Amino acid sequence: MAGITARKVTVQVPAKLNLCLDVVGEDGKGYHLLDGGMLAVDLYDTLTLCLEEGEGIEIDCNRPGVPLDESNLAARAARAFFQGSGAELSQKLRIHIKKQIPAQAGMAGGSADAAAVLVGLNHLRGMGLTLPRLMELGLGIGSDVPFCLLGGCARAQGRGERLETLPLPQGVLVIAKPVGGTDTRGAFALYDRRREQLRRPDVEAMVSALRQQDGAGVGRAMANVFEQVCAPDAVHALVKVMGEQGALGASMTGTGTAVASLFPDESAAQRCLQLLKQKVLPLEYLGLHRPVEGGATMLEAAPPSP
Ligand code: ATP
Repeated sequence: MAGITARKVTVQVPAKLNLCLDVVGEDGKGYHLLDGGMLAVDLYDTLTLCLEEGEGIEIDCNRPGVPLDESNLAARAARAFFQGSGAELSQKLRIHIKKQIPAQAGMAGGSADAAAVLVGLNHLRGMGLTLPRLMELGLGIGSDVPFCLLGGCARAQGRGERLETLPLPQGVLVIAKPVGGTDTRGAFALYDRRREQLRRPDVEAMVSALRQQDGAGVGRAMANVFEQVCAPDAVHALVKVMGEQGALGASMTGTGTAVASLFPDESAAQRCLQLLKQKVLPLEYLGLHRPVEGGATMLEAAPPSP
């Protein structure tokens, strides 16, 4: 039976990387159809959702620059949850976002928060919606939201709703984001203009390397069609430095501008990290990360007041 089962919940959600990303068509409704490998890594946003006296949705965030109004994907997810589940928002919903996922990085920062809100509200309101139903609601918000709910490693096709779970790659990732982002819509427009001339990432090779736990094969198949379309020079420079430092592979994630590189072990990754720390290039984010299973996950729930 649905009802308020908690007063406050905390949900943790990992960042997403595209190990491999291609555009394979359009669906006739204006959406591009994608194909590629996605990976969750141990870099998290943590959201606390709380029902209080009052009405509406109030968002606050530890990072300046994140929109706090209805355009925040966390607010959009809350609206979609109440509309899609039939639950009523009869109190004020306060959402606190502790953000660690870099902005405009192609690491699904906003989509991750949307996924966390869907999981949190499902628990808070005791609705018991299934993962496929949450994914369906999530897809209406953004194409990365279904993956942010599932997590781990997966081949993502269609608009991002066809997800096939794959084994996590072995190894350690160095992730670096140069200063500045790209405009996602602009990136797709540029893609449309140049699509005939682009080299295609080998998604099949990525999938089979992941299945066979072939780290070198995963590295070789790391590629992103958007790197040829909208990557600033700093992205190409990072890919080159990471390769020189012994990465098995390196590529931009999403429509940029973070670059992820895969190393066979921690010491190799550390050497690259230390070099990049010496400010070879101006960076907004630099970190060493590992693949993780799971997507948006409940951390704790405070019981309702008596
Ligand atoms: P993706 O990998 O899904 O393309 P991204 O890394 O390119 O994501 P985000 O950091 O998710 O980009 O943010 C893109 C825009 O979304 C920002 O400019 C911001 O204004 C808006 N936005 C809406 N909600 C959020 C949120 N909860 N967190 C961060 N940005 C948000």
